[in-house]
Amino acid sequence: MPDKDETERRRDIKRQLRKKANLEFEQSLPVSREIFKNIFDFIDAHLSEEGCDDALKLTRKFLEENQIINTDEVVSWLQNNGGYCDCEVLYNVEEQFENTI
Ligand SMILES: [Zn+2]
Repeated sequence: MPDKDETERRRDIKRQLRKKANLEFEQSLPVSREIFKNIFDFIDAHLSEEGCDDALKLTRKFLEENQIINTDEVVSWLQNNGGYCDCEVLYNVEEQFENTI
């Protein structure tokens, strides 16, 4: 049974680890969090009518329409985070933004 100080110390370590993980996540983003949020909203708004083409059609469309210059970087970041098509971006990637901060 850890004493009070020990519990507090462990809690501190956990907090720091989470902070570090969040920071690393934040730093890995190729575009701002705000833009990602807009990507998710855009896919969400169009996916049901357009359907998923098993690629990042809507994502690419958004990036193009919003003149995001590092499209390739964003696409490979999404793929690295489990988003190989538009619906996967919503299912796998969006929640990672909700878990942080
Ligand atoms: Zn899909």
